[in-house]
Amino acid sequence: MQPDNNPNDNIQIHDLHFTSLLSEAEVQKRVQELGAVLTERYAGQNPLFISILSGAFVFASDLMRAFKGNCEVGFVKLASYAGTRSSGSIQTVMGIEKNLRGRHVIVVEDIVDTGRTLHFFLNQLQIQEPASICTVSILRKPEAAAFPVQIDYVGFDIEDKFVVGYGLDYEGLGRNLPGIYQLQENIA
Ligand code: 5GP
Repeated sequence: MQPDNNPNDNIQIHDLHFTSLLSEAEVQKRVQELGAVLTERYAGQNPLFISILSGAFVFASDLMRAFKGNCEVGFVKLASYAGTRSSGSIQTVMGIEKNLRGRHVIVVEDIVDTGRTLHFFLNQLQIQEPASICTVSILRKPEAAAFPVQIDYVGFDIEDKFVVGYGLDYEGLGRNLPGIYQLQENIA
């Protein structure tokens, strides 16, 4: 699905200016669609949603409520970003506390940029022998892809520009914005 752009909806966070990329209504509509697809796929299976913190907690919260049926949730914290660029190395700051062996796992990401974070995490996950793994991300930047990762369900493919909102931050701010905003370049 391609995003609509409303150029009149501008915000500033710290020193940077952003313009609206996806409205709250567009995001919510897509989340409901993804929830319906997962509900059908995992009927009667009690899947485990694993939310990658911090950015994906908003999407994971909405997605699991759009899932109709028994399900569980767990959290893992990975860190790779500093400012508006990926730092290049991944650290597991907080690991998953659940036993994953034999579980149907749904990995929930906020955004797949280079794919480094998910590539790293999926390798770790496979060691724990879940019954199945699927990956869901509300956003993906196809132009930035550098690591081989399969994203089974994508909310929106977007340009390779920095975004905030719906869980994503810039230097700590912007996570609570219900829509998604894209960095405006060349603005003083
Ligand atoms: P990757 O490892 O795929 O390069 O980057 C994934 C992680 O980097 C995401 O989970 C997110 O935390 C962060 N990230 C990537 N692109 C953006 C972006 O445009 N905005 C924000 N706020 N974070 C991003």
